[in-house]
Amino acid sequence: MRYDDVSIKGEVCVQSMGRVVIPVEIRKRFDIKDGEYLNIEANGHEIIITKKGDRCCFCNSDNSKIKINNFHICESCFEKLSELRDDLSD
Ligand SMILES: [Zn+2]
Repeated sequence: MRYDDVSIKGEVCVQSMGRVVIPVEIRKRFDIKDGEYLNIEANGHEIIITKKGDRCCFCNSDNSKIKINNFHICESCFEKLSELRDDLSD
């Protein structure tokens, strides 16, 4: 049996402002770091949280090749950021 075939189940408490803590075993398995953004969606009766993976943190493109800390950025958004930086330095 592979490690990622082992099911992890439990319950979490919804705290003030709707905060929910993802159990440490799940954070470890999915390598979820503090400050990382995750996708969340409601589908029927389920709430689904998924890793953003290598998607661009600005436009959600799956063609992001540039990584800065935990953030993936596509070349198009990187270009826009570079133009913005150039505009600011004028
Ligand atoms: Zn992008």
